[in-house]
Amino acid sequence: MEKVYNFCAGPAMIPADVLQKAQKELVNWSGLGTSVMEISHRSKEFLAVAEQSEKDLRELLSIPANYHVLFCHGGARGQFAAVPMNLLGEADTADYMDGGYWANSAAKEAEKYCQPNVVDITCERDGKKAVLPASEWPLSGDAAFVHFCPNETIDGIEIRDLPVTDKPIVADMSSTILSRKIDVSKYGVIYAGAQKNIGPAGLTIVIVRDDLLGKAKQVLPSILDYTVLVDKDSMFNTPPTFAWYLAGEVFKWLKGIGGVEEMQKRNEAKAEVLYRFIDQSDFYRNEVHPANRSLMNVPFQLKKPELDKVFLEQADAAGLKALKGHRVVGGMRASIYNAMPLEGVQALVDFMQKFEQENA
Ligand code: PMP
Repeated sequence: MEKVYNFCAGPAMIPADVLQKAQKELVNWSGLGTSVMEISHRSKEFLAVAEQSEKDLRELLSIPANYHVLFCHGGARGQFAAVPMNLLGEADTADYMDGGYWANSAAKEAEKYCQPNVVDITCERDGKKAVLPASEWPLSGDAAFVHFCPNETIDGIEIRDLPVTDKPIVADMSSTILSRKIDVSKYGVIYAGAQKNIGPAGLTIVIVRDDLLGKAKQVLPSILDYTVLVDKDSMFNTPPTFAWYLAGEVFKWLKGIGGVEEMQKRNEAKAEVLYRFIDQSDFYRNEVHPANRSLMNVPFQLKKPELDKVFLEQADAAGLKALKGHRVVGGMRASIYNAMPLEGVQALVDFMQKFEQENA
């Protein structure tokens, strides 16, 4: 089969080595004669998977001991509700920094539970989309926490600043987790849907600081209650075991290639190749200011949008899949998560170059 590179924003590529290992052990996992999907989450074999995967994730992100790691259901959108319901306590407001589609969606969900202080932190700089420096974000005094989304998957905007606050910082890291180094100790809660840099959809990772437990609202469904999930080792109900197992394999793979530090270098190299190509071209453009360009999601537009359809058809035929931009932004988007090799980005650039020559 011809080599295929999948640029989908999520569910996204999973490292080929991980898929091959999973395939090999699918019907007879760990010598049990069954798949990992068919065994009890409370069996000693699965508990070993749970323990090892948490250990590996802790190592990859240097997660301090006063943080809990939860393996949950419900996706990042589940966390849009879980965060305010777990963290508001007696407060009636929280700061929601709005840098794009997903931060805004989180704020909308929070409106069900409090009166969020929603702040548009986007701006225009040098004619490009940008984000205000964190020192200029107007935070409110009575917020229970400050929520932001460091990587806006749809807009292709990355925020490398952290809110300047002594309140707990909550970050939706769905499309950036494990792509670059972070200092977990700066955050109150980090959450991420798995389906980009972690593994298959169905699993959501939550990293929560110990002192933030015990504040959940009485009406919060138990499966979203961090304290319950911590007490039950993420097994209050049946966890998504296959997704958890595969996430564990992705963590092993990432450790094997040199961890997050090495991954960051590779991601920076990949993004550089693609942005450099776009910037030197008169045929393509990216509308995000270089200071806020995402390492993971690269939206780009053709100067002749009437060619979008044929671009996508020809790219697909060349094995470059799922490049259609999100409907709210249009154009194209190349998601180049951890599992995307440099060769995939190079193949995309080669294709874009050829397409430009044929259609400029
Ligand atoms: N936040 C971000 C940054 C995302 O990219 C996505 C999904 N693309 C979501 C939240 C929603 O995630 P889920 O579908 O897991 O609820």
